[in-house]
Amino acid sequence: MSPKAQPTAVEGFNGLGLSPSLLATLASLGYEEPTPIQREAIPPLLAGRDLLGQAETGTGKTAAFALPLLERIHRERTVDDDSRRARALILVPTRELAMQVAEAVHKYGHAAFGTCVVPVYGGQAIQQQLRALRRGVDVLVATPGRALDHIRRRSIDLSDTRFVVLDEADEMLDMGFAEDLEAILDALPKERQTALLSATIAPRVASIAERHLNDPVRVKIHREKTATGEVPRVRQTAYVVSREHKLTALGRVLDIEDPASAIIFCRTRGEVDQLSESLSAHGYRAAALHGGLTQEQRDRVMRRFREGTVELLIATDVAARGLDIENVSHVVNYDVPMSPDAYVHRIGRTGRAGRAGAAITFAEPRERRYLRNIEQLTKQTINTESVPTIVDLRARKLEMTRAALQELLVAGDLDGYRVVAETLGEEYDVMDVATAAIKLAHEARSGAGARDSDDVEIPEVGVPRADVSGGRIKPKGKRERGSPGARKEHRGDVTRLYIGLGRSSGVRPGDIVGAIANEAGVSPKGIGSIDITDKFAIVEVQEDEAKSIIAALRGTTLRGKKVTVREDRGVRGS
Ligand code: ADP
Ligand code: MG
Repeated sequence: MSPKAQPTAVEGFNGLGLSPSLLATLASLGYEEPTPIQREAIPPLLAGRDLLGQAETGTGKTAAFALPLLERIHRERTVDDDSRRARALILVPTRELAMQVAEAVHKYGHAAFGTCVVPVYGGQAIQQQLRALRRGVDVLVATPGRALDHIRRRSIDLSDTRFVVLDEADEMLDMGFAEDLEAILDALPKERQTALLSATIAPRVASIAERHLNDPVRVKIHREKTATGEVPRVRQTAYVVSREHKLTALGRVLDIEDPASAIIFCRTRGEVDQLSESLSAHGYRAAALHGGLTQEQRDRVMRRFREGTVELLIATDVAARGLDIENVSHVVNYDVPMSPDAYVHRIGRTGRAGRAGAAITFAEPRERRYLRNIEQLTKQTINTESVPTIVDLRARKLEMTRAALQELLVAGDLDGYRVVAETLGEEYDVMDVATAAIKLAHEARSGAGARDSDDVEIPEVGVPRADVSGGRIKPKGKRERGSPGARKEHRGDVTRLYIGLGRSSGVRPGDIVGAIANEAGVSPKGIGSIDITDKFAIVEVQEDEAKSIIAALRGTTLRGKKVTVREDRGVRGS
């Protein structure tokens, strides 16, 4: 199991021709390697060529044009010239993008070069924009309509503008900005470098490029062809939460899912470090894995993960690539991955060999469209669900206590305690005695309940109203309570099966789902929560499929052992 050679950050952005101060910024942002469009677009743009670039949403196009642009503005700024007339104009379709792109350009350029960026867009008081413009600007990020307003009012001076970017050109045209764009481009100095970025190159985009780009380098990052068959059939869920609530949401989801082993992916090293620290501080057994670690540190983390000392591996894509990791029960995308292909790559770590797996993705509201992209490419559905509530969590913990008690009851060997029950039973109702004992056991088991101390309300942002019940307790369908697999596909009645093998025989949830899916030909979607104790497992299945599942499993083995399967007539849900 020798880990393969890891690309390091040094190989990553080096060699593209960026200056050390920009490289330092990228390192501090935790970018480990350029995305394909960045790799292909940066060198020609640095060399001064025009560019026609095509790549999907979320592939890092902003840095692809912004880094070389910042570099060139910086190089061209002469000592005697400190005028702050816009050197670069970036046109974007919407106000939201104007702010986002301006923020990104600032993030990339301010520390390295002190670059000054101003966004201007419709809807914002023009006086405020004029003040900002008078203070001086290197890079102007504008929506076409507002840019044209300013040009006509002569409130921006574009006579020094040497760099022009049309970002999301297809969108701008779809929004009816064709004439504005033409007018702006005609008003700009002819001596300039122009880059056009677009997710699609429709004929109208091509014709703008034809007329306004000068012998452009064409870069097309192909939509990766991921055969639908390569995408593992695993449960795919997304939670849409704002950044500030992400950590809390992750904690809840982890507690509900209770993964046997999981990889949690983040986009940058910084995020990996932060998240693994936060999770460790909350009592999870988590460890970080990224390109900044030495081989030895990496080996140690991997060893602990394989042994199970570490349950949660927090990793960047780069670090996880080429790792020899067997099936994990959960893949969590703490950030939406950079491309559908990266998504497929990541979730391929789970659901191997027909086993069950879960892929869970956290998206910020504005990242929702990335999810749609991924769905389109993989032709699979990602269900958006509500983040589990504190109430769901409590129910889940009670459920685990119940399972532990049931395990004890099955194992017998309680004689030493019976006398206590009998003595108390003379004075109190036996049911009350049992209930008190359960409370005691539950509190001891769930310890401080330290993890749900962050009892905050997470606002619903992702789920259409009609869907909201997914994470809520319904008055009747009580089995949905906190069950880890409480999925919306659950229709009809659910019944529980007792499976007479458990953790001590090496059985994991994936084995059970795999067996049911393969032997009984039942869709994993029809399988609900799975509780595994040392000696047995309880799995929720559709009532009408129960009989055929029992029949099918009776003839098979799990982890090489024959297995008893029957309907569970034990204590029902809480
Ligand atoms: P696009 O314009 O293609 O839709 P963006 O430029 O908005 O994509 O980038 C999407 C996200 O990826 C941003 O959050 C950005 O900070 C991040 N990102 C860009 N390049 C890298 C990289 N090389 N490594 C890690 N994260 C990156
Ligand atoms: Mg973009």
